[in-house]
Amino acid sequence: MAKHRFQTEVTQLLNLMINSLYSNKEIFLRELISNASDALDKLNFLTLTDENFKNLKYEPKIDISINKDAKTITISDSGIGMNEEDMINNLGTIAKSGTKSFLENLSGDAKKDSMLIGQFGVGFYSAFMVADKIEVLSKKANDDSAYLWISSAGNDYTIKKAAKETHGTSIILYIKEDEQEFLNDYKVESIITKYSNHIQFPIHMNKEEYVPNEEEGKDGTYETKNVQINRASALWRLPKTKITDDEYKDFYKQISHDSSDPILWTHTKAEGSTEYTTLFYIPSTAPFDLFRMDYQSGVKLYVKRVFISDSEKELLPPYLRFVRGIIDAEDLPLNVSREILQQNKILNTIKKSSIKKILGELKKLMDSDKEKYLELYKIFGKVLKEGLYSDFENRDSILELLLFKSSKRDSLVSLKEYKESMQKEQKSIYYITGENENMLRNSPLIEKFKKQDIEVLLLDDEVDAIVIPMVHEFDKTPLKPVNNSNIDEEIKNDEKTSEKNSQKFAPLIVKMREILKDEVKDVKISNRLDDSPSCLVYDKDDPDFQMQQMLKQMGQDNLPKVKPILEINAEHEILNKLLKQDNVAILNDVSFLLLDEARMKEGMKIEDMTKIEKRLNSLISKAL
Ligand code: ADP
Repeated sequence: MAKHRFQTEVTQLLNLMINSLYSNKEIFLRELISNASDALDKLNFLTLTDENFKNLKYEPKIDISINKDAKTITISDSGIGMNEEDMINNLGTIAKSGTKSFLENLSGDAKKDSMLIGQFGVGFYSAFMVADKIEVLSKKANDDSAYLWISSAGNDYTIKKAAKETHGTSIILYIKEDEQEFLNDYKVESIITKYSNHIQFPIHMNKEEYVPNEEEGKDGTYETKNVQINRASALWRLPKTKITDDEYKDFYKQISHDSSDPILWTHTKAEGSTEYTTLFYIPSTAPFDLFRMDYQSGVKLYVKRVFISDSEKELLPPYLRFVRGIIDAEDLPLNVSREILQQNKILNTIKKSSIKKILGELKKLMDSDKEKYLELYKIFGKVLKEGLYSDFENRDSILELLLFKSSKRDSLVSLKEYKESMQKEQKSIYYITGENENMLRNSPLIEKFKKQDIEVLLLDDEVDAIVIPMVHEFDKTPLKPVNNSNIDEEIKNDEKTSEKNSQKFAPLIVKMREILKDEVKDVKISNRLDDSPSCLVYDKDDPDFQMQQMLKQMGQDNLPKVKPILEINAEHEILNKLLKQDNVAILNDVSFLLLDEARMKEGMKIEDMTKIEKRLNSLISKAL
């Protein structure tokens, strides 16, 4: 008998389980049955594709038995089984990437953590919520020896050689004193039919059944019978009309390990040149690894009902990584290799139409139930936006799904709604990017827009600064950032005053250009300012401040310095007084202060506050 230590993360997770943070304990059955079903899937695949397994007897079955005297419940399967090494790797460690950081991020607040645990999917270890000791007896298909794994949680477990006739796994749970309800046949049966009705394989259970007596007047007897308790049909293969909403929801929970209901699902059976069935779900909570590079795929691939893979990330694009579901293809060979999968024409066709289907369903929800869509958008909007730069083909459909904050409304607005309420002469959709909403709402760059009642989209999401500039138009209307220098022509202005102003300010502008020449590309009279004296804009093809920040964060350090253009407000008192100023020192101080003020309003960090302080103090003392 060999004693082994659990990986630290497992011990941590077990402690969480035992202290029973999770209120929904019955899910342990779903997890164990789902593991049994995976083990049967794996063996099925091997018997169909691997010569060494061709002669193996494959009789897929899952058995549940309850022993009230011993206070145990046993879940057995005739699947692939585990050898000693498998046990060490699978039942002593957690392979899931991101486990460590996930555990570190738990707050200690029981309620919050239990929600997170649900999203994380605890799998096998969840059995320790109801059992104080677990034995796993397993024999791997085609092996001669069987092994017994035993643990009462804590820091370690043991493995020893054991006897078992047939291949497969039996998990024996010694039910805790205060969880004895799980020894009740009816309770267990109802949990199984709730969560595991559509496991493809038959689940059997010993049940006491009343057998009426044939002779009239005489009482019948109770007999124990081994009966199948689930439907054992792949849910996605049934016609839609035969599936209730509750069945769809329960199936979702079974495949996603999520404990909340999905927001929506779409079930498609495609016939014709490529035959396949897809069933996709949009969750109502974010998977814990949504923003991890090594996120897990949520889509399982089947070929003619045979499970092939649940780790194939190419089935859907990364910007739809929150989607859960099934793809079952008819015309693929069973032994497709990963390389073939990735370039497979049939899968490509399925992928393309799946994307369209999912985006279409999201659009339908947006049009029919905006409130519900908002819920979804809050969680997955950011991820969807990634599609703008990765999926050119569907860019328009993705754009239709996006919602933005706006200078004119409190609620979020879609591009379509924006267009519908555009001013008559308005040529473009305008937006401003920056790190926080308040700063954007009060930005000098949108003063004129506000005055002229032109709506400006306020983009304060980090990815906006990268993805939105790549989008040049929506439904034939150009999208333009308000801080771009070439927007000038689009803002209405009285030509005469402009002409007069530019003559009047020409000498001052020459001076300011000279003073600020190391900091700015140009100094110009602004068309977009109303209250503020100055603002910064960027030349037509230059990256703006937000974009520069993002590029820096992405590791591009040696970018050439991009100088902004300083725009000044010819109607502003400061500038008009400055016109008459010929004290070089004052002219100098004010020019720099106007630049710094504009910088601060844009959210830039001022590197040398002492300079500002000196200039301010000198001006203040002159003013007093
Ligand atoms: P997950 O199922 O998410 O991988 P689990 O903690 O539930 O995580 O299970 C860990 C691993 O243990 C499984 O991936 C599988 O390799 C193995 N395992 C669990 N139950 C069985 C079983 N009944 N038969 C064969 N292998 C199993």
